Amino acid sequence: MVRDSVVRIGLVLPDVLGTYGDSGNATVLRKRLEWRGYRAEIVDLAVGETVPNSLDFYLLGGGEDRAQTLAVAHLTANPGMQEAASRGAVVLAICAGLQILGHDFTGTDGVTHRGLSLLDVRTTPGTAARAVGELLTTPDPALLTATMTGFENHQGHTKVGPNAKPLSKVVYGTGNGDGADGAYAGRVVGTYMHGPVLARNPAFADLLLSWAVGEPLAPLDIPVIEKLRDERKRAVQALANRRKRLLRF
Ligand code: GLN
Repeated sequence: MVRDSVVRIGLVLPDVLGTYGDSGNATVLRKRLEWRGYRAEIVDLAVGETVPNSLDFYLLGGGEDRAQTLAVAHLTANPGMQEAASRGAVVLAICAGLQILGHDFTGTDGVTHRGLSLLDVRTTPGTAARAVGELLTTPDPALLTATMTGFENHQGHTKVGPNAKPLSKVVYGTGNGDGADGAYAGRVVGTYMHGPVLARNPAFADLLLSWAVGEPLAPLDIPVIEKLRDERKRAVQALANRRKRLLRF
């Protein structure tokens, strides 16, 4: 079935926020909609362009500290995404994206920058080594039952305040740095998972899409995605076993 209206997916500042293939999340959303007969369009919103408040979905990716301050300045001057979020549009933010949605974030130089205050989180540099590697989590069961897998690369640690909830519990990796990964409030969601996260976690992609289209979505059977998920889970298991051995000797 082909639906009349077009689901519009904004890729927010892909020129400064889009490390580790995060822009691929937009392609995953578009394909998963098209495979079910919806029409979908990706709207690239580069630095310097106005951010419309009329889109259904906004995606923000990762980036380094300098890119984050640039992104906040642009999105503060062009608050279309924040306006859309207040009427229920879906926002998914990865890593640096998660950090800039918070109230503030402190870079490795010790300078604190204001965020967009779309999510009740705050970020400061972790004291341990930079978190780089696989991240495996179990999401809040109110949202999802499938395990989530991704790749993380960040120095910042994030505290979730009372007006947001952690997205998931860390099984392997660092995430927010306190045993949880990411945060969500309403339809605004953030995670430390690159990968891109929506390619590696189809149930998560479909949850967010069902919010955007306003109806549950029929499952899609794509065996290669399950193969990828199994392969990544086995890789994490091998890393965890190796760490146990290293700890023992
Ligand atoms: N600059 C941030 C940090 O290191 C985010 C990094 C990223 O988005 N990969 O914490």
